[in-house]
Amino acid sequence: MNTVRCPCCRREIEWSAHWPQRPFCSERCRMIDLGAWASEEYRVAGRQIPSPGAADEDPESEPFN
Ligand SMILES: [Zn+2]
Repeated sequence: MNTVRCPCCRREIEWSAHWPQRPFCSERCRMIDLGAWASEEYRVAGRQIPSPGAADEDPESEPFN
């Protein structure tokens, strides 16, 4: 019997037709995970303007050498 952990709540479920939402344990966990991805993409998409100076830092001034 194959088992898989729900990516959302880490609950162990069977990889079978008993769990139609697999790898999620439930529709709710699936929606939560999709929502997390959607909000992540939205957050990234909203950061199209880089913070000043972040992109053109001189790599030779790296203090950890
Ligand atoms: Zn779950």
